[in-house]
Amino acid sequence: MRTKDKKWRLPSKINVAGIDYKVKRCSAKEIKRRSNCHKDDVYEVMGLCDYSSRIIYISSRLNPQEAKFTFAHELLHAVVDGVTQDDTYNDDQILHPLSRVFWGVLQEVNLVN
Ligand SMILES: [Zn+2]
Repeated sequence: MRTKDKKWRLPSKINVAGIDYKVKRCSAKEIKRRSNCHKDDVYEVMGLCDYSSRIIYISSRLNPQEAKFTFAHELLHAVVDGVTQDDTYNDDQILHPLSRVFWGVLQEVNLVN
């Protein structure tokens, strides 16, 4: 599992609900600068899903495991945005616990490690 984990790399792009997103690593400072809201949210510093420019940013300081989880979290933002434009569903109040629980379940069945 560890060997597989080392081989895993963030994709450079991904299509979510018909929308092409680029995936970029950058500094947490850069992510914070690009984020207009949720400035106190730690997950927005670790990553950001920019719906308008269609770029998912992942902090370059994260280790592979953290980057993977953060990518999954930001991906969930993109998925929800692809399903509904209603921001009440795409809030970290919901997405944070949802992504944690979902990640735990995926690990339980070895879908992710
Ligand atoms: Zn978030």
